[in-house]
Amino acid sequence: MLKVVKFGGSSVASAQQFRKVKHIIESDPSRRVVVASAAGKRTPDDHKMTDLLYLVQAHLKYGVSAEDILDTLRSRLVEIRDELGLAFRIEDEFDAWAGSLNKESNVDEIVSRGEYFTSRLLAEFLGYAFADAKDCVFFGYDGRIDEQKTYEAIGRICSEKERVVIPGFYGQMPGGRVKVLSRGGSDVTGALAAAAVGADVYENWTDVSGILMADPRIVDDPRSIRQITYAELKELTLMGASVLHEDAVDPVRRAGIALNIRNTNEPGDPGTMIVEKVVDEPDDPHFITGLAGKRNFSILTLRKRDMEDSSMLIKTLQIVDRYQVKAEHIVLGVDSFALMVSSDEAGDDLYSIIADIKNECVPDKVLIQDKVSLIAAVGRRMMARPGISGKLFAALGDNQINIRTIKQGADERSIIIGVRNEDFEQAIRVLYGEFAG
Ligand code: ASP
Repeated sequence: MLKVVKFGGSSVASAQQFRKVKHIIESDPSRRVVVASAAGKRTPDDHKMTDLLYLVQAHLKYGVSAEDILDTLRSRLVEIRDELGLAFRIEDEFDAWAGSLNKESNVDEIVSRGEYFTSRLLAEFLGYAFADAKDCVFFGYDGRIDEQKTYEAIGRICSEKERVVIPGFYGQMPGGRVKVLSRGGSDVTGALAAAAVGADVYENWTDVSGILMADPRIVDDPRSIRQITYAELKELTLMGASVLHEDAVDPVRRAGIALNIRNTNEPGDPGTMIVEKVVDEPDDPHFITGLAGKRNFSILTLRKRDMEDSSMLIKTLQIVDRYQVKAEHIVLGVDSFALMVSSDEAGDDLYSIIADIKNECVPDKVLIQDKVSLIAAVGRRMMARPGISGKLFAALGDNQINIRTIKQGADERSIIIGVRNEDFEQAIRVLYGEFAG
């Protein structure tokens, strides 16, 4: 058994958190490859190391002294080292690096040091080898990850070193320059490492006990999801649930590796297991796996008598695409169809889109409804179960929530409901209360 374990910023924010990480790692000898983020916030008003490093770069760029911020970063590292009782002189390396900085320093290299120094300390503390992400993750000239080269490098390093810590978030461009991934990118490093070594599980340790069934800002204390398929996760993510970095799923999914989201502060919680297919489906009366939703959509409905083929739909989609707006959902009717677009994404272009549709498609009528929210009820257990949509609609109706539009995914894995923006939160609470809680 081999597990790749990634710890997010809050899991390595302080010496106390480092101890929890060590405990987790020592409790399972298969946790041999560790990927770490930069130390994150210790309290809500604290700063993430990565944010401070971006600030260092901005100061340098504009010729303003960054001494104070560098001192703060240095003290944080030294404090963790001292509290853990390590002999490793992290300040020597930090000072040499800080002394080399100037106006022209590469911003990516600067911000990558959060992961670098945090991982150096973690490797010392765990007694694991340290592997610089510069030697593990490689980008091509197009700025995209060169997966083959990355997999070979990580595979080689992990076979040479039995137990290893790799900093997340960065790698190297051809020619050696450091490049970072987008924010939250350590999730991606972890996924690449898991795929490279053919891990049995990729554990992503964070500060919540897995993916929640609904947004906790809307539903009080929602339950966390025990098991979810990759396909369900994708539906929830598309509808706004923020779980992992979006590029972190593909490498592990393709390699057939399960992803387990766990809580460093509650290591006894099983968290959420994300798998291709749920095999041991426990008997569960709840047919919803999770709920997610987004506000502010506009629904464009086109009507034309005797709409014989799909040419009008195709033309309309081309017009929307011309304005780089995505048709998020399409509902087909008899002699009519409706497109849902994000009102924020379309902005004022919506009026030009409508004008073009009127000119080029000559429909009998174009209707626009805006201020619509979409809610997705996602669940593999909805497949081939009769009466589900009726139950959902009845629950909303009983609560005086008017449904503006309905769409069921072709594979019956999701039902998407459009409601007025002002009913959005209430609709989620009703659906959660009736079918998920
Ligand atoms: N430290 C980086 C960030 O704050 C990357 C990560 O945490 O995954 O975005």
